Amino acid sequence: MQKQKDQIMNLKASNELLENYFSNTIIPQLFVDADLILRKFTPPAMKQFSLKEDFIGKSMEDIRENFRFPTIIDNIHTVIATGKILEKEVQTTDRHWYQMNILPYIKKANNKANGVIITFVDITPRIRDLKEQEKMVAEQELLLDTIAHDIKNPLLAQTLTFELMKRLPEATSGELSKLIAGLERSLHNIKEVIDGLVSSHWDKQRHEASEELLDFESILEDVRLSLAIPIQENGAIITTSINFSEFKFIRRKLRSILYNLISNAIKYTPSERNPEINVATESHDNLLLIKITDNGIGLSDDAKKSIFEKFKRVEKSVEGTGVGLYLVYAMVTNHGGKIEIDSELGKGSLFKVFIPLNSV
Ligand code: ADP
Repeated sequence: MQKQKDQIMNLKASNELLENYFSNTIIPQLFVDADLILRKFTPPAMKQFSLKEDFIGKSMEDIRENFRFPTIIDNIHTVIATGKILEKEVQTTDRHWYQMNILPYIKKANNKANGVIITFVDITPRIRDLKEQEKMVAEQELLLDTIAHDIKNPLLAQTLTFELMKRLPEATSGELSKLIAGLERSLHNIKEVIDGLVSSHWDKQRHEASEELLDFESILEDVRLSLAIPIQENGAIITTSINFSEFKFIRRKLRSILYNLISNAIKYTPSERNPEINVATESHDNLLLIKITDNGIGLSDDAKKSIFEKFKRVEKSVEGTGVGLYLVYAMVTNHGGKIEIDSELGKGSLFKVFIPLNSV
């Protein structure tokens, strides 16, 4: 009898402890059982996801909208099925970024997941800093690339002319030969400086960008939010057919690819019609295919061949720099991918981005 009483007291004490922990933690946290029923949540979770007391006992399916990111239910199912922790960065549609951890709640008796504990850590400030850094890195990459192409090539031409000059009879003696020797040294120095700058910086940056498990829908949402103003001003309608959402890739690059292609799809639609854009994904034989369709001005066969060149612009009545597609092309081809365009002038375009999944 006493033993039972003690057990009840112990249970009460640990329950109180748990309750105390739950009402005082500053971390948004949820308990969801194996039938996807929401069992408990912390006050910060309540505030962050606008949860109400009477949501306890409801299925997560019925309140999934509150969490504002698409794959939460699928992710819970995966953790329950595998019993393995899932960690990923997600963005809610109100532009907050979270490190989301879904931990299986293992029942000792049968060693099976009896539910999950979901924790969200707000990483919005960190992601904001990261975005700033990414922007700086992208600008630097572009600058270095410009040096590589735009200075190296004329420098090469100069070196060749110089070699011819050296062969002239007048160049072999007197003052001229001294001047030529000086010029040769300085040409050599410039070449060394540029080579060093370009190769070491490129290598460093390439290593810094690391791949991670991404959720395509979250990143698309992020891009959509960054383009909220042009979308609204042009009355753009973006529909999606996402058949493949989770894969490993470099976050900044995927965001940049989508951002450039979608912003172009809006920019290059005549003002008399609303841009209608469809973003679709599928995967075939280890190849990810992203398709972006628009009802814009379209591209001629000649334009299709040249728009990936740097500074190339076809339609000049709209503001632009001509580097967006050049960067997209570089990011895709550096990963062993390719881009194809189907287009009809006056009707619209379809940009198909192929990315091999085993190499990313
Ligand atoms: P920018 O938009 O800054 O000019 P981009 O490199 O993104 O530079 O695009 C290069 C050119 O390709 C654009 O100037 C435009 O003429 C053409 N273009 C890009 N996307 C589209 C599209 N979706 N529909 C029609 N033309 C496009």
